[in-house]
Amino acid sequence: MSDCKFCLNEPFDDLRLVTELKSSFVYMGAYQNKFVCRAIVSLKTHRNELFELTPVEMYEFTQDCARVAEAMKKAFPCDKINYGIAGDVMPHVHMHLVGKKKDGPMWSNMFSTQVTGEEPVTSEEQDRMIEKLRSAL
Ligand SMILES: [Zn+2]
Repeated sequence: MSDCKFCLNEPFDDLRLVTELKSSFVYMGAYQNKFVCRAIVSLKTHRNELFELTPVEMYEFTQDCARVAEAMKKAFPCDKINYGIAGDVMPHVHMHLVGKKKDGPMWSNMFSTQVTGEEPVTSEEQDRMIEKLRSAL
């Protein structure tokens, strides 16, 4: 879609590209203070709903998400990776991956991507985290 920010594949908001995988692009944002780490895996092809993916797309997208989750857990030790797809505002299929700790916020609850009151990390820290995740992939 021409007006979809994920389809344009250019950095937007606080997101920066980590890498390109088989079926997706991986991004990390600047809001990394609430949880251990957060990343987004965005499908390369524009689809609004999971049921619109072909079986091959579904398999490859899931594989990409699992690969990123494993790399996140390696690069940023945490107790659990949470996975979430919402897309109310940005319907292009993208998975939020969030590393959480048992003694951290929202443990045993669905994470929220709301960043109210959360300060972004510095640009240098964001770059450092991106490089750390990239190296673990
Ligand atoms: Zn799109």
